Amino acid sequence: MPTKTPRICSCGRVVPAGQRCVCAVARKAASDADRPTASQRGYDADWRAARAKHLARFPSCVECGDPATLVDHIETIRKAPHRRLDPTNFASMCSTCHGKKTARFDGSFGRTVR
Ligand SMILES: [Zn+2]
Ligand SMILES: [Zn+2]
Repeated sequence: MPTKTPRICSCGRVVPAGQRCVCAVARKAASDADRPTASQRGYDADWRAARAKHLARFPSCVECGDPATLVDHIETIRKAPHRRLDPTNFASMCSTCHGKKTARFDGSFGRTVR
């Protein structure tokens, strides 16, 4: 088997055989950073902690009284970003009622509910 020789990357660096140039690694890291993180979408550690606390205090669905599995924002984050972590804006819900509410809400804006 011939000895693998280092290659020259388009960026000018000498890259050992079988390895990726650091410029490719850096590019990938940059593109990962471009993607919105969970926290940028409004769901970060603070929200998870606030949600867990709310579920502990209000373990029943506000609609039907079943055990709640999630916390809904009464005013959506999009509508009221400043109330994202406001406990008075939280409503414990079971996934069934939340699904219904979400469908109703989306429909009310004239969007087609799929
Ligand atoms: Zn390179
Ligand atoms: Zn429910």
